[in-house]
Amino acid sequence: MVNHTQKTKTIALEAYGIKNAKVKYQLSSDELHRLTIEKGQGVASSSGALAVNTGEFTGRSPQDRFIVKDDITKDRVWWGKINIPFDSDKFEALYNKVTDYLSNKEVFVRDSYACADDNYRLNIRVINEYPWSNMFAYNMFLRPTEEELKDFTPEWTIVSAPGFMADPEVDGTRQHNFAILDFTRKIALIGGTGYTGEIKKGIFSALNFILPVFKNTLPMHCSANVGKDGDTAIFFGLSGTGKTTLSTDADRSLIGDDEHGWTKENTVFNFEGGCYAKVINLSQEQEPEIYAAIKKGAILENVVMNDKGDVQFEDTSITQNTRVSYPIYHIENIRKPSIGGNPKNIFFLTADAFGVLPPISKLTPSQAAYHFISGYTAKVAGTEAGVVEPMPSFSACFGAPFMPLHPTKYADMLSQKMKESGVNVWLVNTGWTGGPYGVGTRMKLKYTRAMINAVLNGDLGAYTYENYHIHSVFGVAQPRSCPGVPNEVLSPRTTWNNDEAYYRTALKLSNAFRENFKEFEEHATEEIRRGGPQRYAL
Ligand code: ATP
Ligand code: MN
Repeated sequence: MVNHTQKTKTIALEAYGIKNAKVKYQLSSDELHRLTIEKGQGVASSSGALAVNTGEFTGRSPQDRFIVKDDITKDRVWWGKINIPFDSDKFEALYNKVTDYLSNKEVFVRDSYACADDNYRLNIRVINEYPWSNMFAYNMFLRPTEEELKDFTPEWTIVSAPGFMADPEVDGTRQHNFAILDFTRKIALIGGTGYTGEIKKGIFSALNFILPVFKNTLPMHCSANVGKDGDTAIFFGLSGTGKTTLSTDADRSLIGDDEHGWTKENTVFNFEGGCYAKVINLSQEQEPEIYAAIKKGAILENVVMNDKGDVQFEDTSITQNTRVSYPIYHIENIRKPSIGGNPKNIFFLTADAFGVLPPISKLTPSQAAYHFISGYTAKVAGTEAGVVEPMPSFSACFGAPFMPLHPTKYADMLSQKMKESGVNVWLVNTGWTGGPYGVGTRMKLKYTRAMINAVLNGDLGAYTYENYHIHSVFGVAQPRSCPGVPNEVLSPRTTWNNDEAYYRTALKLSNAFRENFKEFEEHATEEIRRGGPQRYAL
């Protein structure tokens, strides 16, 4: 009998400087799951998923993300606190240390690719110290067929060695962990951290440079899905604002939950082949599709389980950022391949912890550009020591940590594409209602879904003064009614029952917008500036 899973191809890593390694090439998800457990690096949950702990790091470490400053990047990258320069010779030396470290070890290698649209495909070879990191690469990147593997030419290489610790004095890093992109060598080098998100966001950052610079395509930190009539919707938002949750919708085919490109051919394609969902407080009732995706093949990260292996979703004792990765085919209703047409609606998701932004509002083109550059969400008290009030957090393009170019580059491209396509843009507050964090409550997911569905199904009234109210502080148009949502929920001021406190807080937020925008003022056109709040505190 023919064994279809048996691989005949083997890979030598000497060319990478990794000597005498015991190479495990292209192992199946099942094999990696089994090996992880055998090595004591993970256990199976009661639903069959693999559960691992990522170690010291349970989130990305933006201060340890570097880009090698070379001929390709030096005049193009927006250098600063987000894109921290790294010396090319230092990179070479550190790379050699990492590959020495991996030499003589068992090493897991996987060929995969990013970008579901063939015109943009980027072949990637992933080299991992741990089997579960390699399984993460299987889940998150696109999977070549057996046929494609026969003559696979990798373009980029990811080397991930969580057990390798850098020596900052010698290696030029900030501390023992690092994630470094080298655009000349086409390598993402990761060490000292086992957080799997570094692997996917490394390639995302690389594409956020490559696509706009060389391919005239706009990369976006957004999720995307398609309705029955073929209408594409995309959802931008910072971490925790609802990209994964809201794009996973039984009635709409999922294109992807996090990273997409909008092409000059007027298509939207997924960079990835899987999803990476937050599972804090996940419930089967509220998020049935994601809940069902947590089965054999999925990898749970940093969750706590009871002695039966049932995940305790409310338990944040390891981290608030508990996660699950799964290949996109764990979701039933998906688009194949992961490509849609020009979006008809764009949603900007924000988790406003001040509770002052309307739960949904329509933006003019100026406001859309302004809010895209601003990238507002809020950090809530409790997660960082000393934070007692909600803190506004601004991240340009709703994804500044992953954007190597100046934010206005992406904003200009988006404005251009929005104009050409005549897309509608909506600002959705998935954060607080009835008062700020600590007083009010998080917007009910049921209501947010109803508002989004009303937009997508054309059930919100025509864009007129009878149907919309212009917010006196933010200038955005908030609908007066929406099927499935009580009218008072649509007006944040009403939910506060205290006009004075509401306006005081709203003005506090509008001032924060103004403060943040100063950095972009000189690059922004009059049209973009007009999109900001209409009133500020004295
Ligand atoms: P990341 O970029 O880190 O992947 P994300 O934008 O995909 O973040 P989600 O994983 O969708 O964020 O997280 C949103 C979280 O907020 C989920 O845990 C979800 O259950 C919760 N939530 C609560 N209320 C709402 C709401 N009204 N709308 C959206 N999400 C909500
Ligand atoms: Mn997500």
